[in-house]
Amino acid sequence: FEDLVDEARLTALTLLDRAGELTSPTLRLGVTGLSRSGKTVFTTALIHALMRGGRLPVFRAMHEGRIAGAHLEPQPDDGVPRFDYEGHLAALVDERRWPESTKRISELRLVVDYAPQRGGRRSLTLDIVDYPGEWLLDLPLLDQSYAQFAANSLNLARAPALRPLAGPFLAALGLAAPSAPADETEARRLASLFTDYLAACRAETVSMSLLPPGRFLMPGDLEGSPALTFAPLDLSEGIEAPADSLHAMMERRFESYKERVVRPFFRDHFARLDRQIVLIDVLSALNAGPAALADLEAALDGILAAFRVGRNSWLSALFRHRIGKVLFAATKADHLHHTSHDPLEAILRRLVERALGRAEGAGAEIDVVALAAVRATREAMVKRGRAHLPAIVGVPEAGQHGADDFDGLAEAAVFPGDLPENPSALFDPALGFNGLSDAAGGDFRFLRFRPPVVERNAEGLALPMPHIRLDRALEFLLGDRLK
Ligand code: GDP
Repeated sequence: FEDLVDEARLTALTLLDRAGELTSPTLRLGVTGLSRSGKTVFTTALIHALMRGGRLPVFRAMHEGRIAGAHLEPQPDDGVPRFDYEGHLAALVDERRWPESTKRISELRLVVDYAPQRGGRRSLTLDIVDYPGEWLLDLPLLDQSYAQFAANSLNLARAPALRPLAGPFLAALGLAAPSAPADETEARRLASLFTDYLAACRAETVSMSLLPPGRFLMPGDLEGSPALTFAPLDLSEGIEAPADSLHAMMERRFESYKERVVRPFFRDHFARLDRQIVLIDVLSALNAGPAALADLEAALDGILAAFRVGRNSWLSALFRHRIGKVLFAATKADHLHHTSHDPLEAILRRLVERALGRAEGAGAEIDVVALAAVRATREAMVKRGRAHLPAIVGVPEAGQHGADDFDGLAEAAVFPGDLPENPSALFDPALGFNGLSDAAGGDFRFLRFRPPVVERNAEGLALPMPHIRLDRALEFLLGDRLK
């Protein structure tokens, strides 16, 4: 029955979307990626580029001078927070600091006025939806019962790799009797230890290891609500939850989580997207080593699963409206010398292809790009003894770990090392990744740089911001709709 309601609701939303299209064609663009991958910076830069232009030779509509302008309009979904474009831009331009990161879903509507190649005037309404990639990992939960979820989670927590991180949670679990009367304090304690464990998997394995529920890592506005106050319990097989037991309470909350949090997100937001960009901090993974790269690949699998359609599930109804184009983007390419931009792209392409090879075909047009939405560095040749070496120059952020002599004002040069021309050096067909540092002989540890200086003109409008390959992303995501 719920499937029917979902389907009816989605149909209604889609009809509304289409009705809007009668006045002006609409494109819903999703911006996602794991925490700190660069969503806020990318979304801000994308809007700014469409409104203010800049050096964007590959973005043809702009390059050919066919974009007359772009302006913000009230967004269509009243229940979704607005993307704080003005605030994020002011942080970048006026304070020269990176904006607050994405913690929840937000939306912004931009109307682009352009001249089609065949002449005349048109406008394209672009709805940009920025949401945490962590939320996509919840898709498999929709097909799971609480008992299945609990068994899967505990199997993982007890596996050798994760067990050390799960210690406090497993200890508390050992003392909890599922059939004992439901107790809020007990539920909160277990949920909080379980959340700590999930966060530790993410942080301490220096990896992107991501385990559902996604909102436990990125709660958005739901922090502390009962739908997020549950944990897996040790259940004996085939045991029904006694009424009013801890087990029954956890089960009910897991079901609420699915019905009130996960399903509405996929139905009301994800399923309506036309295009999607997935931002990936490949460089951090390269820095952290082969295990982190392997984890990143697993996370990509999880994300790609959300773009796949299961033919026989209620999801197929939701996903009838397909995402037509997906762009995977390696962010923060300004930490590398330009000779390494293509290799970075090649590494990402390899990662995505391996993940796609395991998927049954995502059904969407897919491309990859290495970019910096906002370029914080410039390149220079720096003298080292007798040699002149290509370097990256920028203003490191003050107070960085292990670098106490940065004041946040003076420039510094780093030698970023080269990525291997051929990503095969990083992959072993049987084993996955080789030790990267051996293969590449480089050290990709990088500093965090402050954003570049961006002036405002006499009218107080920020001038275009420097970037790397943002125009390629724009062309792939929007080019065909501005022809
Ligand atoms: P989100 O969590 O996905 O929204 O990530 P943000 O957009 O907030 O980016 C996280 C951090 O990555 C920022 O605070 C910056 O330090 C860095 N970052 C993001 N994009 C860029 C970029 O284009 N260039 C550089 N140098 N750093 C970036």
